[in-house]
Amino acid sequence: MADFANVQPDKYMLLGCNFSAGRPFGIRGVTIHHMAGDLTGDQCNGIWRGAGTSAHYAVDRNGYITQHVNDTDRAWACGDGIGTGRGNDTTISIEHANSGSNPWTVHEKAIESGAHLVASLCLYYGLGRPEWCKNVFPHRYWSSTACPGELAGSQRDHYMQRAQAWYDAMKSGSAPAPSASPVQPAQGTTAASGGFSASSGARVPVHYSLHLKGGGWLDEVTDFGAGDNGFAGYPCRQHDLLCARVDRGTLKYQVHTIEDGWLDYVTKGDRNDTVNGCAGIVGHTIDGVRMYYVTPNGEEYKQAWYRSQTTARAGWLGTVCDDGSTYGGDDFAGMYGEPLDRLQVCITDGNPY
Ligand SMILES: [Zn+2]
Repeated sequence: MADFANVQPDKYMLLGCNFSAGRPFGIRGVTIHHMAGDLTGDQCNGIWRGAGTSAHYAVDRNGYITQHVNDTDRAWACGDGIGTGRGNDTTISIEHANSGSNPWTVHEKAIESGAHLVASLCLYYGLGRPEWCKNVFPHRYWSSTACPGELAGSQRDHYMQRAQAWYDAMKSGSAPAPSASPVQPAQGTTAASGGFSASSGARVPVHYSLHLKGGGWLDEVTDFGAGDNGFAGYPCRQHDLLCARVDRGTLKYQVHTIEDGWLDYVTKGDRNDTVNGCAGIVGHTIDGVRMYYVTPNGEEYKQAWYRSQTTARAGWLGTVCDDGSTYGGDDFAGMYGEPLDRLQVCITDGNPY
């Protein structure tokens, strides 16, 4: 049994490599991860040794806690480097064993034990009561990744309630009320199409419009809604320029044309600047769009979710998330050789469609 009061794990199994010594930036929070697997501490060490990564703790399917890197050193877990003053430098990383992969859910015993560990770390290091994105961060807060799966989705509120219950109980020297039965992810509500987690509804407004080939600019659309605001583009027509901008952060986007292939990325949205303010070449037919959203520092990670239709077939093509690297899916919207006639974009934290 782990000694939570003194932040001692069930077992030490120090990796001995893939970490940076010391804590020059202090300890300011905890980062939670999922293993992208259902692993023991020993198996984690084997994988991390080969992958050049690590984490401080791993919690297995039975809630058993192994420590791999000392709290006083920096694990290589958050994908944001060393010396940046961000996740790896300032937080303690905890990995949790998955019970499913579509979507990535975590075992209940791993949640209970992981949340207890979060509480004890918050208390021991004086970080305050556990709060999401204040002292408890999802891996994807720090860098582009799907980690920690449903721990940042359908299981997040349950996890944080348990972390707070344990914190309050440890602080007052009592035992917390037993865990209410966990929320079971309901198919169709938490698993949106393509196995993506559903959006929480938090958005960064994105404004975008398409230019008709041989015509003018069509009305600008914000996010996507119903009716006229449902998409950018004109059904069954061809388009040659795309202009897009966001209220915060940076949206990189590029288009593929039938005549030229992929054109350079642009990062501005200004319809009067057809060189740097839009993607495309006047008179050339767009058949593909690729986007990538860069979240501003200090904000919870969001991504560009987008999809398109073509003049050659009915219905929306598959949803794309950013450049495809996060989920390993399609990395652009469209179908080569088929003019793109409708586009929907949303900047959010899960599938909005
Ligand atoms: Zn992670």
